[in-house]
Amino acid sequence: MNSVTKFTRLRTAKNPNNHSVDFFENRKSVLIAGGAGFLGSRLCGRYLEFGCRVTCLDNLSTGRLSNVRDFLEDPNFSFILHDVIDPIKSDSAFDYIFNMACPASPPKYQSDPIQTMKTNLYGAFNLLDLARRSKARILQASTSEVYGDPDISPQQERYQGNVNTVGPRSCYDEGKRAAETIFHEHRECLGVDLRIARIFNAYGPGMDPEDGRVVSNFINQALAGAPITIYGDGSQTRSFCYLEDMVDGLIALMHSPATTFEPINIGNPDEFTVAELAALVLEKIPSKSEIVHVDLPADDPKQRRPDIGRAQRHLGWSPKVDLSQGLDRTIAYFRAEAEGRSCRIPSVAQ
Ligand code: UDP
Repeated sequence: MNSVTKFTRLRTAKNPNNHSVDFFENRKSVLIAGGAGFLGSRLCGRYLEFGCRVTCLDNLSTGRLSNVRDFLEDPNFSFILHDVIDPIKSDSAFDYIFNMACPASPPKYQSDPIQTMKTNLYGAFNLLDLARRSKARILQASTSEVYGDPDISPQQERYQGNVNTVGPRSCYDEGKRAAETIFHEHRECLGVDLRIARIFNAYGPGMDPEDGRVVSNFINQALAGAPITIYGDGSQTRSFCYLEDMVDGLIALMHSPATTFEPINIGNPDEFTVAELAALVLEKIPSKSEIVHVDLPADDPKQRRPDIGRAQRHLGWSPKVDLSQGLDRTIAYFRAEAEGRSCRIPSVAQ
């Protein structure tokens, strides 16, 4: 691409909700911690498309270099192998920092709970320290898990949650809750410019097939003709948000001038039982797979559905891709992966 074409593309590229962002003109510098992960790598791609300089920082514990391989030749992209548990001694200045660094799948974050706590706590301090030095705005990827096993539905941001401090999920749930507090106090005490997104069950092309979450498990089980493993009776609910919708929401939150500094739910309010998800996957993938029920893990939330009123009001953002469309795209991706071909991530417009 020559520079004229590139300039035109930068000027015409739009932030998802048409907020007037100035990074098109100024080639802003963005650091994405956890940038080789499922969501982080898509953020890397989107900011490169905007013409920004992108630094991806990842320890590759669950992030995959293959997620960012396409960017490695791009002069605007750099990759730093680093664990956010350790201080970040970079002299570079960043305009925007995303903290996406933490395994998000229950089997992954539970495999080393102390590391998960450290990632959430030390990672928050180290990235906030970098944000202060850079005078950057920083976005914390928080989670619906801060609500634990909620006893109200849908979950509004002011709901304070029902979380076990000493269960198998606590390292993630309480780690993310504490990180929100660390962020909040850095704003209150030190004036750090920040955003907090509470992410609800993102899925889509690019997920690690081995990740262990329900969408990737069910699709890969169905494609392989293996048993579909429903944990418990399958009546527990989740609200699944498609990758591109999620990334649009995170970008809108990062750049919205109208936002508050309070946490904002980013998710799709369409709620499904796990049994309904299994049925939908089997409808889309003709398969010999049978449904098997296995033990429900301890503290598995019985329901989860975001109230997205705050995101709609402050960001003008709503998800666009429903579960059926999103599953079609995700299944196409996993099919291609299983056949050893790479599959371009379909855009929302397709
Ligand atoms: N689940 C399931 N079978 C699987 C994986 C997960 O029934 O193979 C259930 C899990 O018990 C939970 C829901 O699906 O109720 C979502 O699990 P996931 O690990 O995707 O994310 P969570 O929202 O629990 O963090």
